[in-house]
Amino acid sequence: MHKKYIHIDMDCFFAAVEMRDNPKLANIPLAIGGTVSERGVISTANYPARCFGIHSGMATASALRLCENLVVLPGRMSVYKEVSQQLHEIFLRYTHLIEPVSLDEAYLDVSNSSCCNGSATLIANDIRKIIFNETNLTASAGIAPLKFLAKIASDINKPNVIYVIKPCEVIVFIKNMQIRKIPGVGPKTEERLLSMGLKTCADVQCYDFSSFIKEFGKFGFSIWQRCHGIDDGPLCIDPPRKSVGVEFTLPNDIYSWDKCCSIIESLYPELESRLIIYSPHKNISGHGIKFKFDNFKLTTHNHAYPILDLTNLLSIAKNAWDIRREGRGVRLIGLHAYLPNQLKMKQLQLNYN
Ligand SMILES: [Mg+2]
Repeated sequence: MHKKYIHIDMDCFFAAVEMRDNPKLANIPLAIGGTVSERGVISTANYPARCFGIHSGMATASALRLCENLVVLPGRMSVYKEVSQQLHEIFLRYTHLIEPVSLDEAYLDVSNSSCCNGSATLIANDIRKIIFNETNLTASAGIAPLKFLAKIASDINKPNVIYVIKPCEVIVFIKNMQIRKIPGVGPKTEERLLSMGLKTCADVQCYDFSSFIKEFGKFGFSIWQRCHGIDDGPLCIDPPRKSVGVEFTLPNDIYSWDKCCSIIESLYPELESRLIIYSPHKNISGHGIKFKFDNFKLTTHNHAYPILDLTNLLSIAKNAWDIRREGRGVRLIGLHAYLPNQLKMKQLQLNYN
């Protein structure tokens, strides 16, 4: 069975978010980057700016020389992170095998996904549609049986498109592919390759292995492998999450249980919405509260419980408030829930089957 990898890449992400939030920026050359006085560089340019030859990594000063009307914004990292989290939540509806590459880029392994009848192409199109509906931003997607090919595919015909490399097309695709398309091969390596008469992967396939490694070393081995259609294997998945939580530092220390109670009630919906990303039915192995007192001492109070529940959390909190506070003011309140032990759940399912 072939693997099915999807590489999702948002189209000029930082700039696209700014254009979405301020339509006046939509059709003018726009870039996100540092200022000239800080010797800043461009991190993202929109398409009108790219028409002037402006690209990421370029010094802001050079970009302004190419286009004097270029609008350069410092960027709003917290907003980009929020959108990135939204994207991650969309991916999770299709698979838990996600390798985030950056805020706007991720690999998904949908080899065993039953969504969309298991079609990676339909899943990718679904994801692109949902991203647009929920964030008003466009994404490109590449699909391939090899990870690095999925990344190369997502860059073909960008923006707002999907490109599929079918398993039966891999051999021909790689043969004709220019080596510089391989992630990590920059202009300097390309120059050296060209000087050796190597332009396409087919050229490398015909080249002597030991001379190639002698010339390019360890990195050469990775180029060699990719030119021969060998991938670097499964995704690097985050370790499974054990808990979710929310915390709030109070503007003033509090001494009244009623106030504490209303703060917990206001934090609860956020905890709930974070939990359902990982546990849609709010199943947990336990939950609890955290207080930081006015002398900065911390206390946590946990309780084994099968489902997230506000009334139960409040009674845990009341307990800690009465027994552990000892008259001190409270400066921080946190709520957390422990996710069910995945391994135990699997074993239980096996036992029931
Ligand atoms: Mg991108």
